[in-house]
Amino acid sequence: MKKEEFDNLPATEKEHFNYCTKCSLYFDLRDAAQVQKHVHGITSDKISNSVVQISEV
Ligand SMILES: [Zn+2]
Repeated sequence: MKKEEFDNLPATEKEHFNYCTKCSLYFDLRDAAQVQKHVHGITSDKISNSVVQISEV
């Protein structure tokens, strides 16, 4: 989803989303299909790290 849509989500929803720097879009970490689509060759280790970062914001 786009940043404008993401900004309108409640905080409890936002924590389930991660930002894809390649696509400049937010995607739902609970949706395996979206996660796979936005991996772009990044290892699952790096994905876990970004999840930690976004939940600290
Ligand atoms: Zn992407």
